[in-house]
Amino acid sequence: MKEIILVKYGEIILKGCNRPRFEKILLKNIHDAIHRLCKVNISITQATIYIDVEDQEKLDLVCDRLTRIFGIVSVTRAAECEKELSEIQKTALEYCCNELSEGVSFKVEGKRSDKAFPLTSQEVSMEVGGFLHDSIPGLIVDVHTPQVTVKVEVRDYKAYVYCKEKKLAGQGGMPIGTGLKATLLLSGGIDSPVAGHMIAKRGIEIDAVNFFSYPYTSERAKEKVIELASIVARYTSRVNLYIVPFTEIQLQIRDKCPEEHLTLIMRRFMMRIAERLALRHKSSALITGESVGQVASQTLGALDVTNSVVDMPVLRPLIGMDKEEIIVRSRQIGTFETSILPYEDCCTVFTPKHPSTNPKRKSVEKTESVLDVEKLIDNALAGVEMITVYPE
Ligand code: ATP
Ligand code: MG
Repeated sequence: MKEIILVKYGEIILKGCNRPRFEKILLKNIHDAIHRLCKVNISITQATIYIDVEDQEKLDLVCDRLTRIFGIVSVTRAAECEKELSEIQKTALEYCCNELSEGVSFKVEGKRSDKAFPLTSQEVSMEVGGFLHDSIPGLIVDVHTPQVTVKVEVRDYKAYVYCKEKKLAGQGGMPIGTGLKATLLLSGGIDSPVAGHMIAKRGIEIDAVNFFSYPYTSERAKEKVIELASIVARYTSRVNLYIVPFTEIQLQIRDKCPEEHLTLIMRRFMMRIAERLALRHKSSALITGESVGQVASQTLGALDVTNSVVDMPVLRPLIGMDKEEIIVRSRQIGTFETSILPYEDCCTVFTPKHPSTNPKRKSVEKTESVLDVEKLIDNALAGVEMITVYPE
């Protein structure tokens, strides 16, 4: 029996006259993600994408890749057969026999999108349901809360049969490439990779910037950030990661500024440098993993102090989330285990004992004014290393 993959997408359907453009981008993303795995034929009709996989052994692998592509709502393996009632009945019995047995409740949901097919959707449900019921002793019909729902779709050229319960959930969201690009401030922590994933999910391409204070932060810490970027890249296909040398800036801040403002001034440098890199690489916004009140540098006053040095929109998708909620997402996207590896980040190396929790712009601007901000930024930008990170 031949199987194919049916892919359903969500929000794109609501895009009116932009819909064909969005569909084209989604098809391209799908092709880019799977064409190296095996020979596939991808087509689209009536808001469903059909993926015909030549090597049937690769079906699971292809499904797994598809569940990471933004814009896709569900991925289903389905048996394909001719559009003849007897063929559909036989296929349903054969394909769903592992799920259907004595004592199991079930229903059939038929859908006829080919209006030339002689049976209506309801008739398809009844004919296939009746056949399964007669063929498997002890099977119970339950149209309200069945344990198993057998779906039958009669489409333009073929009919497809699958069990609804075996549908895999997709990422949802919008296909990457339908929005512009944003630059993620990626630390080695739990929050920022989650923030990047959340914005990418809205169709935004992601660049990442990491501030790196060698030798205060080790090569292992850098490898950890590269690994986090590669996990984010599983969803975005790749991430351009800019590693910015940050030691000189941190040492100057430590030596010349009051301890209570260390983190804030450091964060202001990060924002400024990230904005310069974003402008240079045609990115339209910054993304951080900040969450209001999480630490002293993320109170409303502190956010105002860090925000005030940039003009670009700063996206903070985690702003209202608790750490526990962020951890749940981090586990879901697969970054958690890497994020908790114990290598230090440049923020943790120079942490003040008593950071200011209610800072004012004016006072931070004054304490920062002893530094040659422009020169420090130029020096840091001169040493940027770019790594294009792909999924592992
Ligand atoms: P994370 O927020 O990623 O878990 P964290 O909580 O240790 O790490 P914070 O000190 O809360 O980081 O910093 C707030 C945000 O600033 C981070 O979410 C990230 O966007 C950015 N950031 C912090 N440190 C760095 C760094 N070394 N490089 C790039 N961005 C950073
Ligand atoms: Mg954080």
